[in-house]
Amino acid sequence: MCNSLAPAPYRASSEDTDSRREYPPAPEPLPVPVMDNHTHLDFRHGLIEVSVRDAMDAAQSVGVQGAIQVGCDLESSRFTVEAVDADPRLLGAVAIHPNDAPVYAGRGELESALAEIEELAAHPRIRAIGETGLDFFRTHGEGLVHQRHSFRRHIDIAKRLGLTLQIHDRDAHDDVVQVLAEEGAPERVVFHCFSGDEELARTCNQNGWYMSFAGTMTFKNAGNLRSALAIAEPSRILVETDSPFLTPHPYRGRPNASYMVPYTVRSMAEVTGDDLSELCSRLAENTLQAYGSWA
Ligand SMILES: [Zn+2]
Ligand SMILES: [Zn+2]
Repeated sequence: MCNSLAPAPYRASSEDTDSRREYPPAPEPLPVPVMDNHTHLDFRHGLIEVSVRDAMDAAQSVGVQGAIQVGCDLESSRFTVEAVDADPRLLGAVAIHPNDAPVYAGRGELESALAEIEELAAHPRIRAIGETGLDFFRTHGEGLVHQRHSFRRHIDIAKRLGLTLQIHDRDAHDDVVQVLAEEGAPERVVFHCFSGDEELARTCNQNGWYMSFAGTMTFKNAGNLRSALAIAEPSRILVETDSPFLTPHPYRGRPNASYMVPYTVRSMAEVTGDDLSELCSRLAENTLQAYGSWA
């Protein structure tokens, strides 16, 4: 059940008629508001430009009342600070992404970039260091040395500033867990776009780490993610879009935005067997525990 059109700011202009780039229809609103725990409002998809304010208005109209805007490099981390200043529905996270760390290191600029990340993170509405972590899918060889070093430095910054650590883990579960054990994990750790199986979910349960589920858990071939969600500690689950990527089923491949969260939440409720309102309340409460208040 849904309206047949994307929210107004996301409707394609007449000259852009490629349906693969069309934003999906608005879902039925959630009965209890939740937050999008991970989005990139500065990444544009196709020809459609949507302002931060319009993006959050569209999200709010379907019960997604706020979001965590995430920086991946210096430019997007600076954008993140501006965005959280401009719209009270946003909190932010800043970092050098694991696939960007080798690029900065190659220019001899990783340490100065990390120093600026730490300065940006002092803003009271920046609540997380992320996304950081390990990505063995995109980075290989020598680049991994810089990636590991960068991950360790981000863990250190999160701990010193008392911020949540938001982890990007792609094909690197064991190594991420190992680095966290070696460094000592910050008080609050979130696996953004959780991509693990039951084993990683058990590790997260044991350590009190949050598992943030994205549209990927709705994909047909994602049985492992649904099995992980089924055994995840209810107090440790979150929901996110990682928009404009990872659009939930049945709109996989089309652009994503925070207003799409309800599709993923409904899919999560099918897995956990929870009443939809109860699941929404839990997700909202868990988000506040992970990142603090939006007020
Ligand atoms: Zn990521
Ligand atoms: Zn992301």
